[in-house]
Amino acid sequence: MCGIIGYCGNYSAFSFLYEGLKRLEYRGYDSVGICIDGKVIKMKGHVDQLNKCGSEVKNSGNCGIGHTRWATHGEPTYINAHPHSSGNIHIVHNGIIENYKEIKEELTKKGYNFVSQTDTEAAAHLINYYYKGDLQQAVLSACKELKGSYAFVAMCEKKNQLVAVRKESPLIVGRGKEGVHLASDISAIADKCDELFVLDNGELAVIKDREISFFDMFNAPIIKLAESVDKNYESVSKEGYATFMEKEINEGAKSVKDTIEGYKDNYLPSGFLEDIKSIYFCACGTAYHACCYGKKLIERYVKIPCFSLVASEFKEPYTTDYSQCLFVFISQSGETADTLAAHTLAKKYGAKTLAVTNVSKSSLEEVADAVVKTRAGREYAVASTKAYLAQLGFCLYFTQYLCDTKNIACKLTEQENLDKLYKAMDSVGKISQIKELANNMLHEEHAYFLGRGLDYVTASEASLKLKEITYIHSEAYPAGELKHGTLALIEKDTKVIAFLTQSELKEKMIGNISEVIARGAQVTLFSQYKSVDYDCDKILLSAAGVFGFGSQRVGLR
Ligand code: GLU
Repeated sequence: MCGIIGYCGNYSAFSFLYEGLKRLEYRGYDSVGICIDGKVIKMKGHVDQLNKCGSEVKNSGNCGIGHTRWATHGEPTYINAHPHSSGNIHIVHNGIIENYKEIKEELTKKGYNFVSQTDTEAAAHLINYYYKGDLQQAVLSACKELKGSYAFVAMCEKKNQLVAVRKESPLIVGRGKEGVHLASDISAIADKCDELFVLDNGELAVIKDREISFFDMFNAPIIKLAESVDKNYESVSKEGYATFMEKEINEGAKSVKDTIEGYKDNYLPSGFLEDIKSIYFCACGTAYHACCYGKKLIERYVKIPCFSLVASEFKEPYTTDYSQCLFVFISQSGETADTLAAHTLAKKYGAKTLAVTNVSKSSLEEVADAVVKTRAGREYAVASTKAYLAQLGFCLYFTQYLCDTKNIACKLTEQENLDKLYKAMDSVGKISQIKELANNMLHEEHAYFLGRGLDYVTASEASLKLKEITYIHSEAYPAGELKHGTLALIEKDTKVIAFLTQSELKEKMIGNISEVIARGAQVTLFSQYKSVDYDCDKILLSAAGVFGFGSQRVGLR
């Protein structure tokens, strides 16, 4: 989402900040801004607008900060865009300052004038409040009061110095030939750096000219070892696709294959699952849907109690004894703050923990008892596709692994089945009717996604994707649940997208589809069944807007 960039070195900062922000654009943002040597330029809208700055900005100094904002507090406006300033202090910030209202109240009493609706401005004024000529000291004092999860970089006019802090939100510092670079995302600076330092939680980096020093929250110096630069980060290319998302959808089969094959030589430590009586999957957003998928697979095949939890809701569990429970935390980045918080609680209550992440050296990886990777490769699109599929790949393999350790016959990852799966997944990006369906939905305000069992998980994830990417309101329903109220909202031409990939649920699902068709819905069915033997065929085939996708299978089963 949001992005931070910083530069301090031998050259004009502008081009480094601009290029870095361009590279962070793929994450999505609503406004943008930079500060070079006290000159703040910010606006709602696109990074490109910065290029219109005159030479007085472009050549104004060798040290600066930049930001792409994804608003959490206050609308996307010029005033709310970052950097935020207080006197000579300017900051860019990712994340949320939870106690900003209290800080604002206190500082207002002390005479500070707040102009924006952001939480960030409270941090800027707080640093200013503590600033007595030493920016590092002021940032440290402010951090003692700030609550929440954040990363920020502060600078003070006329001093070639940046002070950066990380608390749960990622921040990376790197050194290259041209100077020191700083970013919230490695890909924005990797090719400019010969060495990289990933800040850990509660660490502070002070950059002065070309020198970088690191400190903890008590201002004690720390020694950090440089990490080598992963050359893969150097190319951020769409490889001919119109968008990263389309490219990544087409990489889905590969990411599942790489994930499952990667497990063959390297999986859980032996004995890790001994004494485990139940499993809790826990995550946020898309990864939560992967959890729901894992839960359904394990219940179906392994037959042990299994639960899926939304991480931010795991606060007051019914028991404080989770010994003999395995908690599986799934997070693409391994940095999801709510997931990390749920992990802390699960450990406190005695659970064994397993992290499933796609990015190496993440915070989740560091704290969990064991880690298994998904191998989706780097995902650039904001909305996850191939990383989600890789998480489902993990669930398939994990279920098989549990069955094998318990001597339960299971053929989920038998090569023949996997080959069929990869082939079916490869065909998804080539289904021309999907574009037709998208065009048909362009001006809709609402849509419903229906499925049963595993297909309900697919429906939930599909609905989340639609909302996130198109801003069309949509809801996913277990198809059998619709009749208990929500069916009343289905009327003539309501768009319904249904999934049917499990033979044992075919008749029931077709029954549910006929319910919505009877109310005039336009149904698009994703299925590998031609449905020729069913009475409902007539309804399906005669209803307006129904596509049969023949033998194409969409989604995993
Ligand atoms: N909470 C800050 C704001 O709303 C930062 C948002 C972001 O991470 O971009 O301005």
